[in-house]
Amino acid sequence: MTALLKNCKLCPRACGADRTRVRGLCGANDQIEAARASLHQWEEPPISGTRGSGTVFFSHCSLGCVFCQNRQISRRDGIGKPISVQDLAQTFLSLAQSGAHNINLVTGAHYVPQIIQALSLARKHGLQIPVVYNSSGYECVETLRLLRGYVDIYLPDYKYYSSYYAARYSHAEDYREVAVAAITEMVRQTGAPQYDANGLLIRGTVIRHLMLPGLAGDTAQVLRDIADRFGDTVLVSLMRQYTPFDMQDWPELDRTITDDEYADACELFQSLGLAGFFQQAGSISESFIPAFDGTGLEECKL
Ligand code: SF4
Repeated sequence: MTALLKNCKLCPRACGADRTRVRGLCGANDQIEAARASLHQWEEPPISGTRGSGTVFFSHCSLGCVFCQNRQISRRDGIGKPISVQDLAQTFLSLAQSGAHNINLVTGAHYVPQIIQALSLARKHGLQIPVVYNSSGYECVETLRLLRGYVDIYLPDYKYYSSYYAARYSHAEDYREVAVAAITEMVRQTGAPQYDANGLLIRGTVIRHLMLPGLAGDTAQVLRDIADRFGDTVLVSLMRQYTPFDMQDWPELDRTITDDEYADACELFQSLGLAGFFQQAGSISESFIPAFDGTGLEECKL
């Protein structure tokens, strides 16, 4: 499966890099790089539960939004610790032993072949908890199909309806078409949400939408499109935690979401009959951004 890295088309950028020799457009070569693995409390309640979600933050990203809150690790030159497939499997097992309700793979599209190898190895050594695939939504259907049978819960963003905003803020004019096809494949794999006896999500797709300043109309179109296409087969998480950093080149993004903007979006959400999650005003906090210092990345003892 690592042959896929020799002419990489794992993501919609399809840059064709030979990652055994160079880094691709996203910044990844054939060595897994990650910045943190820990129990994370900041996901939606049925994913974080009481003990936390076993989150692995991978370095680099194929989307590259100008407002990214994880820019320290997501940029082409983002920081990260090189780890082997065996180390990643060990990290999954250690998170499960620490009580994680699930394994949560954050922005791993460019490492899908290695992630599959690591999950197979960890399962052979007893990993049983659900696997969450946490994604920008900018994914290739072919790559997602490789994950069938390995991922239980998809957690994709649906960031923009408008191709203008997608091009301006993520250099991806085709974002909506790509994300809709990707989410359709995710829903096809998971089916409708399923919970365990404690109310924790064990299967399903949760679509996240992060509201951006001044884009209330785009948010409304995203919510309507989700309702039309997916109805009650998905959960929706409407997020207001956007926090501006160094936005001098995009001054229109240099503020947080107002209470009125969020309240209007929540009202539409409810009128469309969507099911899912809202956030409190107090959730606007840098506490969502953990230290990317290599915490929790284990060396293989298998
Ligand atoms: S995952 Fe990275 S290397 Fe592969 S096609 Fe996308 S940008 Fe290029």
